Amino acid sequence: MLSYKLEQRGGRLIKVDPINTSRTCPRCGLVSAENRKTQATFACIGCGYRSNADEVGAINVLRAGRARLACAMSGAVRPLSAGTRRDRLQH
Ligand SMILES: [Zn+2]
Repeated sequence: MLSYKLEQRGGRLIKVDPINTSRTCPRCGLVSAENRKTQATFACIGCGYRSNADEVGAINVLRAGRARLACAMSGAVRPLSAGTRRDRLQH
């Protein structure tokens, strides 16, 4: 549904692996469960960066999506959907 709505408006859905997106510091890149002191607050134990935890998650998801798009455009990796389709054909 989301993909369909985006295509209607000229957008594009990019699926990203959400693993560690809430634990990764957007400033220094440190990945640690300790960066999430509370549900609402992100506080990096490496560099001291502090922000709203949802905002940090959104930054990391956006970066992952942009990286995925850049790799797909350069041919470095296949888009997620390409692998899925090939798997279906093999079975
Ligand atoms: Zn940091």
